[in-house]
Amino acid sequence: MKNNEGPKTLLEAVKYFADEDVCVRTLSALRWPDGVVPCPNCQKTDHYYLATRRVWKCKACKKQFSIKVGTIFEDSPISLTKWLPAVWMICGAKNGISSYEIHRALGVTQKTAWFMLHRIRLAMSAGNFGKLNGEVEADETFVGGKARNQHAWQRVGKGRGSQDKAAVHGMIERGGKVVATTVPNLTGPTLRGNIERFVHPSATVYTDEFKAYAMLGKKFDHHFVDHAVEYVVDRVHTNSIENF
Ligand SMILES: [Zn+2]
Repeated sequence: MKNNEGPKTLLEAVKYFADEDVCVRTLSALRWPDGVVPCPNCQKTDHYYLATRRVWKCKACKKQFSIKVGTIFEDSPISLTKWLPAVWMICGAKNGISSYEIHRALGVTQKTAWFMLHRIRLAMSAGNFGKLNGEVEADETFVGGKARNQHAWQRVGKGRGSQDKAAVHGMIERGGKVVATTVPNLTGPTLRGNIERFVHPSATVYTDEFKAYAMLGKKFDHHFVDHAVEYVVDRVHTNSIENF
């Protein structure tokens, strides 16, 4: 969204993005500035656009996909008519936006507003709204040390109450974007779910040999490496953690 076009005030933004076609056009322009839309299934670029349902149908593989597929919005039922005014608010705010302000402005619950704020900040720290792709390294950490090596982790893993540190799951696209998000535990389903949420299925994923990552190969081209860890931790520390 450039400064000289689009809505100027919050009220204008809410009205502007109330039109789902406008949302799809806006997000398309952000994701694919050159206008070439790759099918998330086969990467081919020849499609029909089914305007009534706002989905693309790939001419090659016949699969349909919406603008949300392949973005951090994909697994959320929240409408783009809520997401985009929130993005507009967060991008435009000089001094930051609270989840309370999003709740008030968009009429979503405080819990939803917090979720949206968190997701949008992650996307902004990663540089765009697409998932990580190419070569992606994933690891988990406490700030200040490897999560699973810390005694505190055992307490965290057994439930709430004694957790004085949050575990952070970091994913980095080599040469580029970083996503770091707090996780409630270090189980396979949690870490795999997080990777599916933020990493494109065509990516190559590198982790160490922690058993929680064992089943990743079912969904991704998955490789085990040593010392992915320090790299990820350094990048997470320098780029993203302080945003929380
Ligand atoms: Zn296709």
